[in-house]
Amino acid sequence: MIKEFEFIRPLNTLVSEEEIISDLKSVAKQLGKETVTQSAYGKLGKYDCTTVSRKFGTWNKALKIANLSFSNEVNISDERLYENILNIWQHFGRQPRRRDLTSEISEFSQGPYNRSFKTWTNALQSFVDYANGEDLKMPNTNENNIDNKRSKTTGRDPSLRLRYRVLQRDYFTCKQCGASPSKNPNVVLHIDHIIPWSKNGETVLENLQTLCSNCNLGKSNL
Ligand SMILES: [Zn+2]
Repeated sequence: MIKEFEFIRPLNTLVSEEEIISDLKSVAKQLGKETVTQSAYGKLGKYDCTTVSRKFGTWNKALKIANLSFSNEVNISDERLYENILNIWQHFGRQPRRRDLTSEISEFSQGPYNRSFKTWTNALQSFVDYANGEDLKMPNTNENNIDNKRSKTTGRDPSLRLRYRVLQRDYFTCKQCGASPSKNPNVVLHIDHIIPWSKNGETVLENLQTLCSNCNLGKSNL
C-alpha cells in the first residue's frame, strides 16, 4: 500500500539561508530557549540538520547568524564577556557593533550578553567602565631584593585593562606604519613590548605599543 501525503524531510534541497535562519529562530521560540540543539531541531525543524550545517559550515555558525546562543555554558563570567568585546574591538579596530557577535571572531553570541547586561549598549558601557577601572594587582616591588639581576615586577601578558589602554592610546592603529583594521580588514594588531620582556622590559603602559603583525614580525627579525 502506498502511503500518501507522507512528509519527507527535504534533504539538501534548495533552501535559502534566510529560510533556515528564520526556521531556527522559530524553533527556538517554540522551545522558549535561546539555543537550539540538533536533536531538538531534528524533531521540530523544517530542514535536515545536515542541510543546516552544510549551508553554514557548522551548526554553531548557523546559530550564531540566527543570533542564538551556541554555547551550552551558563554563567559565563563578565570578565570573559569583556575579553571577547576587546578581542572584537582589536580585530575590527573600532568599537564593536552588536552584529559583530555573529562574526567568526566572536566567541559568544548575543545570548550571554543579554543575560548579563540586558542590552548590547549596556554591555559596552559596562566594558568601558571596567576597562577604565583601576587594576587591583599592584606591581610586586620587593625592596629587599638583594639579587643584582633586576627582577621584573610584572608578568608578560598585559591585563585586559592594560591592553585596552594601549590600543586606545594608539587609536587602534600600528604605531610604526599607521595601518588599522578599520581601514584594512587584513591588518592584525598586536601589543608589543618596546623593550622586550625578555630583556627586562616591563609590562606597563609606557613600554607597550600597538603594532601590526607585519611590523611586529619585522621587529623581531632585526
Ligand atoms: Zn605596521
